[in-house]
Amino acid sequence: MKTLDQLRFDNTYARLPGAFHARVQPTPLQDVHLVSISERAAALLELDPHSIRVNGAVARLSGSAEWPGTEPVAMCYAGHQFGHYVPQLGDGRAMILGEVVNDAGERWELQLKGAGLTPFSRDGDGRAVLRSTIREYLCSEAMHGLGIPTTRALCMFNSAEEIYRERIESGALLVRMAPSHVRFGSFEVFFYRQQYAALKDLADYVIDHNYPQLREQPQPYLALLTEVVERTARLMAQWQLVGFAHGVMNTDNMSILGLTLDYGPFGFLDAYDPGFICNHSDYRGRYAFDQQPSIGLWNLTCLAQAMLPLFDDDNGEAAVEMAKAALAGYEPAIAQHYAQGLRAKLGLIDERDDDQNLAQRLLDLMAGSGVDYTNLFRDLSGLARDVPADDISLRDRFIDREAFDAWARDYRARLEAESSEDSARRERMNRVNPRYILRNYLAQHAIAQAEQGDYAEVDRLLNLLATPYEDQPGMQAYATEPPDWGRHLEISCSS
Ligand code: AMP
Ligand code: MG
Repeated sequence: MKTLDQLRFDNTYARLPGAFHARVQPTPLQDVHLVSISERAAALLELDPHSIRVNGAVARLSGSAEWPGTEPVAMCYAGHQFGHYVPQLGDGRAMILGEVVNDAGERWELQLKGAGLTPFSRDGDGRAVLRSTIREYLCSEAMHGLGIPTTRALCMFNSAEEIYRERIESGALLVRMAPSHVRFGSFEVFFYRQQYAALKDLADYVIDHNYPQLREQPQPYLALLTEVVERTARLMAQWQLVGFAHGVMNTDNMSILGLTLDYGPFGFLDAYDPGFICNHSDYRGRYAFDQQPSIGLWNLTCLAQAMLPLFDDDNGEAAVEMAKAALAGYEPAIAQHYAQGLRAKLGLIDERDDDQNLAQRLLDLMAGSGVDYTNLFRDLSGLARDVPADDISLRDRFIDREAFDAWARDYRARLEAESSEDSARRERMNRVNPRYILRNYLAQHAIAQAEQGDYAEVDRLLNLLATPYEDQPGMQAYATEPPDWGRHLEISCSS
């Protein structure tokens, strides 16, 4: 286990040409103090979590004191926001500190979020408030606990700095980490500026650092696009299966590594509602829950377009055909991941043609009755074969109980057909259907306490959500549906 001083930095992103980033310095927050640290994330750096708690370490990690080895830069990127191209975005409040290389040779780029103004801040103040920082901190680690690719969160700080949003809030700071924070929008910025040499440098950088196996391919850039298509398809299927709505799927929030990136007004489904819009500012529902798979493809199409100059060709048509061929992999990939995931959620082993239909019928019934998505799937694992269909607690969750009974009979018949054994099925299902998710009301509760200076609930949720598939003694209250006040919390982009 290392202290901060012993971490080894190799800042490859900061060494890229000037068009990629701007040199910055964090602006210290007043009276900054540690809220929480994720020991699991610290372990990835081989960092001793206790070494962060000492004063000098807090000052360095929160950007208040110089940290030898780091070279802070803000990343330059563009992106399509709600369908419209915005030529200049960039890290307006995030700063890459540098890349820690651990003893296993793994590279983790450390980033501060909320560290003050950068040349890309536009009208913003470069800050992040406590409430949104807690949400990103907890959700990053919760998504990892669920087994979904994501940026990680090392630790977070609060301060006495007053930040103006709809009300005065305290300035907070997140230290997040990922193998890379490069986005689809990082490619778009060079494409639209016609800086094709920089575009190529970026693609080479991503391949060399994050996809080295693609270097051996006859067409590495095309292979890169193909791989991003596959990873994005898988990520979108995973979001749908766990009931996660991102809320702001702009291309600047889409990771080139297929990670969940930039947690803003995200939300997990409580009651199953395919049209769920978690972002209060998304009036038209562009990023509604059930739109995510198609938006994933829309965003990949933007990336593909930005990569066209990389595909060898003289007249452009061949490049377009190559991009189209890569994008054509999306629909079958997401369909396959989603179908496989639904089958697993139902505990089915064999693949049968009618499985999708069986799953969809259940989802439709859940939507009709507003049944809690997470709890229904979790509790379905307890459905036993020898209990009569009308004798189970699950049916009471549905308005049309007979319709559920009919579904349950068909489900049982389907289980019989593959000689499914109940206890083994329960174990299988409990490995993919979480008991605990970061419900909005749970996050809200932790935020309210933190705003009073009590951070215990943040740590409690962090620990609980690290192993969301295990029933944890004494924590049943954290698996309950939201109380009335917590059903329709409004979360907007202003964070
Ligand atoms: P987001 O929707 O949070 O991903 O942000 C979109 C863009 O706005 C990104 O380029 C952010 O860096 C920038 N941004 C968001 N909030 C702020 C802020 N408070 N200060 C400066 N830039 C911001
Ligand atoms: Mg963003």
